[in-house]
Amino acid sequence: MSVNYAAGLSPYADKGRCGLPEIFDSPEDLNKKVKELADMVRKASYIVFHTGAGISTSCGIPDFRGPNGVWTMEEKGLNPKFDTTFETARPSATHMALLQLQRVGILKFLISQNVDGLHVRSGFPRDHLAELHGNMFVEECTKCGKQYVRDYVVGSMGLKPTGRFCDVPKVRGLRACRGKLIDTILDWEDSLPDKDLNLADEACRKADLSITLGTSLQIKPSGNLPLLTKRKGGKLVIVNLQSTKHDRYADLRIHGYVDEVMTRLMQNLDLEIPMWTGLPTKLEPKDQVTEHPINCNGDIDSALIKKEERNTCAEENPHLPKRAKVETTCA
Ligand SMILES: [Zn+2]
Repeated sequence: MSVNYAAGLSPYADKGRCGLPEIFDSPEDLNKKVKELADMVRKASYIVFHTGAGISTSCGIPDFRGPNGVWTMEEKGLNPKFDTTFETARPSATHMALLQLQRVGILKFLISQNVDGLHVRSGFPRDHLAELHGNMFVEECTKCGKQYVRDYVVGSMGLKPTGRFCDVPKVRGLRACRGKLIDTILDWEDSLPDKDLNLADEACRKADLSITLGTSLQIKPSGNLPLLTKRKGGKLVIVNLQSTKHDRYADLRIHGYVDEVMTRLMQNLDLEIPMWTGLPTKLEPKDQVTEHPINCNGDIDSALIKKEERNTCAEENPHLPKRAKVETTCA
């Protein structure tokens, strides 16, 4: 699938402030600031990182509000430029540095607004990660809630049926769950996944240091989460080329490329950035999935599904977690 997933979203008028000028700290300032950041990291006991589209631009995936971002280009009547697909994009130095920081126990929780799946594809453990706006590679059962992490893009957006069904066996082993699978990608008015949002909220309140990387912090509620750390007496560091909505609350602002900042931070902490050696083996390949025919609207062609399956799939589970809404705000 093309990385222009934004083209699949519904029209939405208020996309926030786009195309703000980029600011670059001088090499001396950058050095000084990263040293300061390394000191803050050493002193902190619970660090949460927050990532946005800016950490994947070096992977060939455009951001939204940068000078060449999807919404910035849209405002100018231009098309954004794509250098990759979601399936061929490789994790950046930043993704790999975050993985290492988690492995050595420095990073306690990671909150991402990105749907590109690169944190999971880098090998980052999902139980230490909240993907607040979904993941192009994850589909979820509407009956039992099981999530499947695929090694391919699941193919729909906006919490719509992907055309596949859950293969979780029933408790007594008689029949599989057969619930309808939907993608996890939020459209503008969709609500955030309850479990991820609660974990993110809890981690931000517990944190004594929140570090944001490559996000303008304009989307609510994701962009406001780092403020919870401040409110509880912790510190906030913002790493972004453009100014952000919450710059005034930051204890330290770093204007530099995230890959460069993270590479220097790791050097300061005497930590290696591991090489990416390929996809984690636990991702589920396509040939293990039960596929059903999909018509041109992306709906399952019900005529081709057995009656028993139709009945099972039609039931949506009212006990599945409820979701809180996502919205943008203009600064
Ligand atoms: Zn299921």
